[in-house]
Amino acid sequence: MRYVIFSDVHANLEALERVLAHAARAQPDAYVCLGDVVGYGPNPNECVARVRDLGAGTVAGNHDRAAVGAVDLGRFSPVARAAIEWTQGALDPAARAWLAALPLRRDVGGCLAVHGSPRDPIEEYLLDLPGALANFAAEPFACCFVGHTHVPGAFALEPDGRVGATELPPGSAVRLRPEVRYLINVGSVGQPRDGDPRASYLVFDDRAATVTLRRVPYALEKTQAKIAAVALPPLLAERLAIGR
Ligand code: ZN
Repeated sequence: MRYVIFSDVHANLEALERVLAHAARAQPDAYVCLGDVVGYGPNPNECVARVRDLGAGTVAGNHDRAAVGAVDLGRFSPVARAAIEWTQGALDPAARAWLAALPLRRDVGGCLAVHGSPRDPIEEYLLDLPGALANFAAEPFACCFVGHTHVPGAFALEPDGRVGATELPPGSAVRLRPEVRYLINVGSVGQPRDGDPRASYLVFDDRAATVTLRRVPYALEKTQAKIAAVALPPLLAERLAIGR
């Protein structure tokens, strides 16, 4: 099976449509969404409908939970909080119900799929080797796909216990070695934060045991104009252009 795995759409419809059009060329057998469909961006209902109608196997992210009132907003920055409050007011009942019903974990071709991390699917940011090691120790997954940080890349645990960071060069298939365990971050569709403003997604071929990161430019000026036209913080428009 060939899976297209994407995350952190953040209500950015232009980026989502561009990613889905690009990803269709890989003729995927299934789509997987690692959460944060909403929050920050101007099109929460449209993005929920698109992901839902695509039939993407989706897990909940922290913004999805917050947008339906399921988590305390105290842990969010002032800008994130303002965006959540705007999103809460913008969501239609069908989108809210769909978001509220999302599970925290899924199986993807024998791999685990979560938003944040295996031990804390909603909140934990997997940023460094100690965090990766703690999650490898927490449960025996061979491979786990995550989002949440908006920075693509992977951590690999070798059979001798060493853990290292692995780059995922866009467009290059990376082979997953059977004796190695992986935590793989697919990056963000709607708000990349690795300094590259292009939308990010990943193709996972479970038979070939490869992952290929893809980056695609999209009409971010259009998203910026929409953010400016509603009561969302201007910073959310500015950061799209620099990928931070
Ligand atoms: Zn996010």
